Amino acid sequence: MKTTPYSTTDAAELYGIPSWSGGWFRVNDKGHVDATPAPGLHATLRDVIDELVQERGESLPVILRFPQILAGRVRQLNEAFRKAIQEYGYTGNYQGVFPIKVNQRRMVVETIAQAGYDYAHGLEAGSKAELALCLAQDMHPNALLCCNGFKDDGFIKLALWGRTLGKNVVITIEKYSELDRILKQARALGVKPAIGVRFKLHARGSGMWEESGGDQAKFGLNAYELLRVVERLREEDMLDSLVMLHTHIGSQITDIRRVKVAVREATQVYAGLVADGVPLKYLNVGGGLGVDYDGSKTTFYVSTNYTMQEYASDIVYTVQETCKAREVAEPTIVSESGRALTAHHAVLIVPVVDVTGPTLDVQAIPPAQEGQHQVVTDMEEILGNISGRNYREMYNDAVGDKQTLHNLFDLGYVNLYDRARGEALFNAILRKVSRQLIGEKYVPDELEDLQKVLADKYICNFSLFQSLPDNWAIGALFPITPLSRLNEEPTRQGTLVDITCDSDGKIEKFIDLRDVKATLPLHALDGDPYYLGFFLMGAYQDVLGSAHNLFGKVSEAHVTARPGGKYHIDLFVRGQKARRMIESMGYEEAMLRESIQEQSAKARKGGTLDPLQEHELLEDYDEELLGYTYLEYENE
Ligand SMILES: *Cc1c(COP(=O)(O)O)cnc(C)c1O
Repeated sequence: MKTTPYSTTDAAELYGIPSWSGGWFRVNDKGHVDATPAPGLHATLRDVIDELVQERGESLPVILRFPQILAGRVRQLNEAFRKAIQEYGYTGNYQGVFPIKVNQRRMVVETIAQAGYDYAHGLEAGSKAELALCLAQDMHPNALLCCNGFKDDGFIKLALWGRTLGKNVVITIEKYSELDRILKQARALGVKPAIGVRFKLHARGSGMWEESGGDQAKFGLNAYELLRVVERLREEDMLDSLVMLHTHIGSQITDIRRVKVAVREATQVYAGLVADGVPLKYLNVGGGLGVDYDGSKTTFYVSTNYTMQEYASDIVYTVQETCKAREVAEPTIVSESGRALTAHHAVLIVPVVDVTGPTLDVQAIPPAQEGQHQVVTDMEEILGNISGRNYREMYNDAVGDKQTLHNLFDLGYVNLYDRARGEALFNAILRKVSRQLIGEKYVPDELEDLQKVLADKYICNFSLFQSLPDNWAIGALFPITPLSRLNEEPTRQGTLVDITCDSDGKIEKFIDLRDVKATLPLHALDGDPYYLGFFLMGAYQDVLGSAHNLFGKVSEAHVTARPGGKYHIDLFVRGQKARRMIESMGYEEAMLRESIQEQSAKARKGGTLDPLQEHELLEDYDEELLGYTYLEYENE
């Protein structure tokens, strides 16, 4: 065991902060987590929360957004491609586009458009609504506005009008029949389209979204369809409208080799078309640039075995190599990174409201009753016999006895009192076993279950379905750490449960450099508020969340770091109120009020409410309609 005192470096390592933070977060000397959104600037997350809660009286949970981190990521990506282009003497350009489906929030889109202006970084829309939003953004005139997704006439018209506004709109054909629609609308409006074609690579991504690529992919044209598009455009004398070849092999590509293989195939297709006289200009390699959520730098599904610079360099190199071999001009490389730009900028802050678990529940063991069942007596003996040498065996025996206890209860052979005593004994056994485990760094596999059983349940004021939908839906993992006390060794092992009434609303898997952990090291509550930060939440989670149990959108604060460790809360947006959630299900606020008023008037007439109580009831009802949907405790 360690003899030196616990340090903030130990905590940083324990939670893997340097590995996954990308340098945007750190542990400071006092054991608090800081955001470090720009060189020399930092903001202590706990300070921001204390200001919101104590000074402004706001309720949690809250999402903290750092526009400086978003802008920083846009710069990093563009600079990575610039560096690669310079290093290899690549003769084409790079122009990114941000696929707004990853996060359509105003602050996110506007910050990216602004930070990307000088890089001519563009946007990508996948639906009519997204296009309507993108068209209203201030973008560099060369910046691309790519229109992906299946399209109807309205979508195409809007895209064509975009060109007349001076925007560099490219309509991507996702299936063959869209070509006819585009030609028809272009003719009708008298606007010349810029067309891209999405090609179905046989190459595939890796990790969770591997199925997005390959022959069975949902979007894209196969080689024969691609050639027919070219032929058709040539017949129409519109070949010069075909400006972009588009590919996308799925999000969160974990293995850089898959990127290279796909880009090589895409460049071969590009070169083939150019050789055939198609004046293509852009080669769009799609999204997929991953985020190393667990910091392990591996091909594990929540990691990546490459850096952003390696991604950019490998793409530039591969495109160049292939173009050289085929003797075609090097294209403007386009990539559609969404996850990698947005993940880091948002942190969800969640208060722990309570802790339960076998080591914390009521610890008294009720005294033995006369005629106590033998199985209970057996458990009593186990409890007395546990030692450092036999605790595994004793634990297994106890698990068996508890099962027997419950079976006998179901059959009527054990009464409720014996059951209560048996369960209390079992919990006491767990507590004793857990004390044997203290200080053992690696828990053997066969005891992992025990670890889970023993874990405290930290009840957290949030909804998994609203705030971490990908954790529930596809097992995505996000780094989670306490916001403070990181100069203090965490003595508990916990799992997290949310406040929805859904038993799926829990987190029992946590990031780890080697594997996945069943529990998260946490501190015992000491009466002070205990906040957890959920990091790298800015991609997809913000916009996929659902209103399970009518828990609505979370409040958010936009925070800018200032020199000297100062910060400024630029904007605070309150989360959705209960009435909005109720109305979204088809009810009307007035109707609800009316019903309560009618019922309370009746109760008053019937004598169960006096007029003062009726007034209070109506006031309290109103307050909840206007209130935050999450738990609101004083001083939390
Ligand atoms: C979703 C999507 C992206 C974004 O991918 P990330 O991995 O988040 O960067 C890019 N392009 C297309 C076509 C997409 O559908």
